[in-house]
Amino acid sequence: MLYSEQTFLVAGLSRSGVAAGEFLSARGAKVYLYDDVDDENVRAALSRLGGLGCKNVPREELEETSRHCDVLVLSPGIPVDHPLPVSFKRMGKRIIGEAELGALNLHCPCVAVTGTNGKTTTVTMLEGIFKAAGKKAIACGNVGRPLTSCVGELGEDGIAVAEISSFQLETLYSLRPHVAVVLNVTEDHLNRHYNMENYIYLKSRILKNSAESEYAVLNYDDPVVRGFAEKTKAKVVWFSLRERVEGAYLQDGSFCWYQERLFSAEELPLDGDHNRANALAAIAAAKLMGIGNSAIVTALKSFRGVKHRLEKVGEINGITFIDDSKATNVDSAIKAIGSVRGESVILLGGKDKGYSYEPLFDEIKRSGVVHAVIYGENAFRILSAALKKGFTAVTLCRPFDLAVRVAYLTAEKGQNVLLSPASASFDAFANYEERGKRFCELFEGFRQEGKSEGTKGDPLEEDE
Ligand code: ADP
Repeated sequence: MLYSEQTFLVAGLSRSGVAAGEFLSARGAKVYLYDDVDDENVRAALSRLGGLGCKNVPREELEETSRHCDVLVLSPGIPVDHPLPVSFKRMGKRIIGEAELGALNLHCPCVAVTGTNGKTTTVTMLEGIFKAAGKKAIACGNVGRPLTSCVGELGEDGIAVAEISSFQLETLYSLRPHVAVVLNVTEDHLNRHYNMENYIYLKSRILKNSAESEYAVLNYDDPVVRGFAEKTKAKVVWFSLRERVEGAYLQDGSFCWYQERLFSAEELPLDGDHNRANALAAIAAAKLMGIGNSAIVTALKSFRGVKHRLEKVGEINGITFIDDSKATNVDSAIKAIGSVRGESVILLGGKDKGYSYEPLFDEIKRSGVVHAVIYGENAFRILSAALKKGFTAVTLCRPFDLAVRVAYLTAEKGQNVLLSPASASFDAFANYEERGKRFCELFEGFRQEGKSEGTKGDPLEEDE
């Protein structure tokens, strides 16, 4: 793309939109900016990019400006069937994401990771492994740092460890990872992709450019992902918790790579089979990138996990608070319930994404969950699934703060208060991080109350 000769409209001014604006203006492109929202973050983005010569487009001028633009750079937050991309498509113009700009300009090898759950955990493990091996590696993409902002720093000898979401895959065409990892595909984002067929198709697109010289690391235990082997030209390498596959697997409690034992799974500092699966995927990808065992073993044995993923916040009166705010779909909450030791009061709810909550209650009924406190916009849909499955130990409590307090009051000594909401946070928070932070603040407040009163306090005093 000859940037200096083209006009771009960057739509959606979150982190990746800002990075795209900076990247394009640094290359002499003419850049227009548009966002539906007018809040503090967008105003900050406009002022920053305005300083680089990018121009804000008011809503009433959007149609006219679009006609003069060659390429639409669409934020992953905006679906491709939004009227703006639809109008670009009608005009026969190009629609790309910020990740596509990054992919077009990367000069180093890329390990790309997708899947419904475990992406951030796995790319963070991989970044640690590569760094332990003395490589210049950056975890980027959906994990936080936009791809375009890493291109220069990575140069030719770095490794881009790119977390790629289904939203990004809608507008990503050129990525050709040396190793593409697909962790799992379970129900999520059906409010955006409409049905599982579309969602599965998007996930499979991470493999579409791979040739025989590249690798696909696929989860043998996931029937959907196993099927991806048929759809790629890349060499398939498996990972599995259950079978001795060609690739990475668990045997007699140890992580193994093609008959070679690496280390005991008990030495991975994270709980849960799902985290062992993430570690196996990371081992396979690292091995295929030529990394030696000692860097892999050192990095994984010292891996402390990522914030808001099954993170132990602390303990008050023998009750342990666990922040799994990033469990924004049913499968991740199921995995949390299966991994947490002992009995728990679970906090469920938030913004609905169009899937069924019934499998969650199948798992809850055979688990150590003794009570569910249900809150948020989708509270009644979750409640109805609970009742349909015959799980009646529930309290409905719409506001988040009150729900957390009720969970704390319900929990008994020796039990956990587990925030693993199986829902997005956008009904009440900017994102899952804010929700997790609020949970930790509430924990801290209870701890202070506990110190002064030696009791759990009155639930209604503060929240009325
Ligand atoms: P992602 O980046 O794909 O959202 P994360 O690593 O941030 O994945 O984890 C998101 C949620 O999913 C957390 O609650 C975490 O405990 C859970 N999780 C992590 N790995 C897996 C996995 N392999 N399968 C299912 N759930 C997982």
